[in-house]
Amino acid sequence: MSEIIILKNSCKGIEDCGICMSVCPKNLFAPSHEMNERGFLPPRVIDEDPCTVCMNCMVSCPDMAIVVAKKKKTKEPK
Ligand code: SF4
Ligand code: SF4
Repeated sequence: MSEIIILKNSCKGIEDCGICMSVCPKNLFAPSHEMNERGFLPPRVIDEDPCTVCMNCMVSCPDMAIVVAKKKKTKEPK
């Protein structure tokens, strides 16, 4: 389980960059529906569940606009 946070306003846009979309082995990024404050179109995550927490997106983003955190398993109530 992972949590993928996109810092939208740090992104330079998928048209000019798009590295995250090309490095994700699970193709979990798609174009966002809204431009950011800088007028660029950031990516959005279509589904966090298949994420393998490989960190490719986070380490490849030149603008450090992606943070991937491993979610801790919550204990099931007894
Ligand atoms: S951590 Fe890996 S699998 Fe998860 S969104 Fe990033 S590139 Fe894709
Ligand atoms: S790699 Fe980073 S800067 Fe490039 S499109 Fe993805 S989030 Fe934006």
